[in-house]
Amino acid sequence: MKPPSVIPYGRQSLTDADIKAVSDVLRSDFLTQGPVVPAFESAVAAYCQVDHAVAANSATSALHIACMALNLGPGDSLWTSPITFVASANCALYCGASVDFVDINPVTRNLCPLALEAKLRQAKTEGKLPKIVVPVHFSGLPCDMEAIYSLSQMYGFRIIEDASHAIGAQLNGESIGNCRYSDITVFSFHPVKIITTGEGGMATTRDPKLAEQMRRLRSHGIVRDVADMSACDGPWYYEQQSLGYNYRMTDIQAALGLSQLTRLDTVIQNRERLADRYDERLGDLPCKRPARLPTAKSAWHLYVIEWDEEQNGCSRRELFDALRNAGIGVNVHYIPVYRQPYYARLGDRRTEFDHSEHYYASAITLPLFPALSNEEQDRVIEALYQAIRS
Ligand SMILES: *Cc1c(COP(=O)(O)O)cnc(C)c1O
Repeated sequence: MKPPSVIPYGRQSLTDADIKAVSDVLRSDFLTQGPVVPAFESAVAAYCQVDHAVAANSATSALHIACMALNLGPGDSLWTSPITFVASANCALYCGASVDFVDINPVTRNLCPLALEAKLRQAKTEGKLPKIVVPVHFSGLPCDMEAIYSLSQMYGFRIIEDASHAIGAQLNGESIGNCRYSDITVFSFHPVKIITTGEGGMATTRDPKLAEQMRRLRSHGIVRDVADMSACDGPWYYEQQSLGYNYRMTDIQAALGLSQLTRLDTVIQNRERLADRYDERLGDLPCKRPARLPTAKSAWHLYVIEWDEEQNGCSRRELFDALRNAGIGVNVHYIPVYRQPYYARLGDRRTEFDHSEHYYASAITLPLFPALSNEEQDRVIEALYQAIRS
């Protein structure tokens, strides 16, 4: 008998229209720096109701140039949530700045505004206020941006939303990415995320100066429209004005993103339907399910349950192994960043982040992606009940 196929925790969905959009670019004159990247940028900006969108070759690159545009440098610090992918923190280190963490709210699993306020008050007395705070819309559920924004007004820091999980999510009926409560928002188009370009990212902003700086930084720091024409040697002229990178997205990637974007709302409806179905069918289990907030619409990037070892007969590890053995590609998102050896060199921080530690000890990510069928989802749920019974 054929062993049952493994159900992954996440997977991209590609259509024939996506494939055609990409092959059209392959047959065109431009593979990169053609018309499709600006078209994708305009489409994302229109979707998010924001003035500017700057594409990059990953969310990691977009976070880096976002920090640079906000002048993050040596002597500065950036604060973020420990329950995130390492890229949310690494962007500060690229700029020579330092990183610190703010504990999560145990219900939303997002950076906790109360913990942030307490840490800011303390930091102010020590003269160590952060320059940038990076709230992460974990699993696609928007952070309490109003509270974080009002703290930014009181304590004078800038905000970059890491919305890698959250394109298509909404807060108070408005799209994440409109930057109502932040300077810059960053999206990821990695294949496991909500929509994909293979690799890719985007930064949105209301500020034309920040947009211009990020455009320059993603392409070597080079400018072609030079204001001072007397410096211009001829029609070939361009000028490097700062030290930038090659963080450009290709037209091939942008074509895929543009095609995927047309299905974004359907993709999220599918994810939401599957999340509702998990909620219904796991209702009897003694485990914590994802929060639902009246003010927010999640993009449902991840469906994470928290498994309390003390309440239940079996441990999180036992449950995890049983599910993996049953062909369910469960995962754990995330190992708190301060636990990573690269960060732990700076000291053991585990006792400072009770909620993050408790979350990390109990979290299991169940499979959730638009093409997950009801039958596959039932297999996940059955395997979960089976694991608990045995
Ligand atoms: C995936 C992810 C990133 C990095 O995205 P890339 O596009 O792979 O660089 C950053 N932050 C979070 C929260 C992510 O999940």
